[in-house]
Amino acid sequence: MTEFPFESEERRALRSAVAALGKRYGSAYMQGKGRAGEDSNELWLEAGKLGYLGVSLPEQYGGGGGGIADLVIVQEELGAAGCPLLLLVVTPAICGSIIARFGTQAQKQRFLPGFADGTERMAFGITEPDAGSNSHAITTTARRDGADWILKGRKVFISGVDNCATTMIVSRTEDARTGKLKPALFIVPREAPGFEYRAIPMELISPDRQFELYLDDVRLPADALVGDEDAGIAQVFAGLNPERIMVAALANGIARHALDKAVAYARERTVFRGPIGSHQGIAHPLAQAKIEVELARLMTQKAALLNDAGDDLGAGEAANMAKYAAAEAVTHAVDQAVQTLGGNGLTQEYGLAALINFARVTRVAPVSREMILNFVAQHTLGLPKSY
Ligand SMILES: Cc1cc2nc3c(=O)[nH]c(=O)nc-3n(C[C@H](O)[C@H](O)[C@H](O)COP(=O)(O)OP(=O)(O)OC[C@H]3O[C@@H](n4cnc5c(N)ncnc54)[C@H](O)[C@@H]3O)c2cc1C
Repeated sequence: MTEFPFESEERRALRSAVAALGKRYGSAYMQGKGRAGEDSNELWLEAGKLGYLGVSLPEQYGGGGGGIADLVIVQEELGAAGCPLLLLVVTPAICGSIIARFGTQAQKQRFLPGFADGTERMAFGITEPDAGSNSHAITTTARRDGADWILKGRKVFISGVDNCATTMIVSRTEDARTGKLKPALFIVPREAPGFEYRAIPMELISPDRQFELYLDDVRLPADALVGDEDAGIAQVFAGLNPERIMVAALANGIARHALDKAVAYARERTVFRGPIGSHQGIAHPLAQAKIEVELARLMTQKAALLNDAGDDLGAGEAANMAKYAAAEAVTHAVDQAVQTLGGNGLTQEYGLAALINFARVTRVAPVSREMILNFVAQHTLGLPKSY
């Protein structure tokens, strides 16, 4: 039973429709594309055509008018089918949420309809080589030059840049070079002079690659600035909660996928008397993984509902907890699934070993498990900060 008892009819219908789409692609499609160094555009565009990429975007810009809770369903069901879309976290969830809430009228009209139907993709760059988890220390800087902006800096691990016509770059304005971050967000075209991107060789089997970005005095028109220069911090936060919730959804989906495969195998495979699933050494870890995944899904729902109700603070805490729980759950579930299949757990045919590193990413990105523990220790428990 994958639906929640309190899920609306509409959301149940969305769940089964996306599951049907995912089934037509599956993990063999996704891992095949990843191994061949190809993108997964067919799935992205079909999901867009069917309205699934835009479920959380406003209706007046071609979206479904729902919330992140709807996009969670899309990501989780694609993940459960073995074909999650990493850029769902980035384009509709981060960039779409930020532009829908803070973008100018012109930016909403220019980007949101394409986000919704899949024809327009935007990457998101905040991480820097010398800042990492400490986003307050970013040094990518925007300075004014007449009506234009000049952007200079470096970013690292930015997903999907090669498939995105633009990247939303988090920078700081020149007059706020030091001290507390006063961020300003810019939409930078991939072809802008001075914008260079280089793929980072990663040990991940995925159609979506990560890139290092070099912004060497990239000249941008005034309207590249997202919304208002003074709303930067609120804009970043408007994107971070959906991002964490969507990574949790991705992890929950992959965990379900791995567990389904493991359970099916454990029911059939017999080497002594009875199927291996009758041995508690196999059954109990799978049952434990199932419980962990269901708990993570529940917290993900809570975070999505708080986010969609506009409770940013409450959603922040729940999104962190959901991302933590889901990352732990998927890491355990994939590991146990590989163990359940024995040698077959390591074959390409069964596609489970390919998920080990992919699942592991969710413990690091978009925010590491240690930084979430720091957050909960300080903000939820009121303990002193150590760093
Ligand atoms: C596959 C992938 C895709 C990504 N996609 C994007 C993207 O699209 N856009 C983007 O902007 N970024 C992206 N990232 C970057 C990601 O968000 C960062 O890797 C992550 O925030 C961690 O930063 P870091 O790698 O610099 O690690 P660091 O900050 O260097 O941390 C290293 C280790 O030290 C620990 N640590 C650091 N400080 C503390 C502390 N105070 N207390 C306890 N432990 C601490 C961390 O938890 C971690 O375990 C991606 C990363 C990956 C792997």
